[in-house]
Amino acid sequence: MKLRCNCDDWKVLHFERYVYEQDEIIIAFDSLPLLICPTCGNIDLPDHTSKQIQKFITDNKESGRKVFQLKGHSDEPFEKLQYPKGCVDFKISKSDCFFIPALNLGKLGEFSPVFFSLDVLINYIHNPRYTVHLGSETYGQITSEEFGISFGINRNNKVIMWLIDIVNLPEEEQYYLRAKNIPSDHDVGSEFYEGQFEAVWTGPSKINHVKSLRKILSQLILQEYGLNLFMLDEEAEVIAKRISKPILFTDKEIGDTYEDINKIFVESLNVKEIKAFIVQNSNLEKKDLAELRGMKILRCWLIQFLNLTEETVDQLLLPLFVLYDLRIVYAHLTSTESREEKLISVCKRIGLNENCRDNEVIYNVVIDKIISMYETIIGHLD
Ligand SMILES: [Zn+2]
Repeated sequence: MKLRCNCDDWKVLHFERYVYEQDEIIIAFDSLPLLICPTCGNIDLPDHTSKQIQKFITDNKESGRKVFQLKGHSDEPFEKLQYPKGCVDFKISKSDCFFIPALNLGKLGEFSPVFFSLDVLINYIHNPRYTVHLGSETYGQITSEEFGISFGINRNNKVIMWLIDIVNLPEEEQYYLRAKNIPSDHDVGSEFYEGQFEAVWTGPSKINHVKSLRKILSQLILQEYGLNLFMLDEEAEVIAKRISKPILFTDKEIGDTYEDINKIFVESLNVKEIKAFIVQNSNLEKKDLAELRGMKILRCWLIQFLNLTEETVDQLLLPLFVLYDLRIVYAHLTSTESREEKLISVCKRIGLNENCRDNEVIYNVVIDKIISMYETIIGHLD
């Protein structure tokens, strides 16, 4: 039994009334553990549920009875269960590791999912002692000098970690986590679950994709033109490492992210070397370039050496100009009026409704546009 439904959605563990029929025997359960797909409504019996039912039928064969009314879900199977013990007692559902596919691996109870409200991540995001890294959109890692732990985010925006990982954390981390611990919603479907149990590679998050494209572009231009498009590689590397997909999309978080993205894509452009290259290899002179910085110098280089028209390049670099405005909107003090003006202009330019104020929607479109910008420039190099 797999957690992934045939329709591709994740099944969720429920406890529901259910009538089971087999060879003229009918068993009505008050509450039976079932795996139900929220998309197509398909209902499956978890392996453990099926086994218990078969055992019941065998045990009662001699009685000749055909109809049974049972309570269904009882705590009986859990009595033998030995949970791994840390210093802190976490709220968990004893049923999860019995009935959710694959969670009975290892010593029973080790892969009990422990649920947290999403704001558990805030401390880890803002505290410089930790790094939160999202390898994919919903599968990440928190690391510090002393420890590292993986987590997932389910469709209800709850954070999930495995009990076995938590009990190995330092005591003070466990107390912090316990404060944000919430009851299980029995819904573990996520790239995190899939990555850990079904060995599915979840692919890089969009922002990691952008970082790889920046590296590829820089390598290609160095090979083909002998030009270092970016400078301060090590510093940029440090910033690149700390950028990951925003999680809560607060103004603060998104502002910091735009600021960092701008640093590695615009501020780290090697203006001096790009200027020298243009002067050496085109009809333009030093004085023509005097006023050009950042994106403007990149624009000039693209027009000169990729034989693109000014309009094409302006269209191409649009996401970087938008990024510049977004930085000002989120990271700087501006009047409400000019902030509104800028947001309206940003939304219009990236093809969103001008009234869109959803940080996550805007972020996703901007990142998609940066990806296609890099892909197009790389395309023109080949
Ligand atoms: Zn389904």
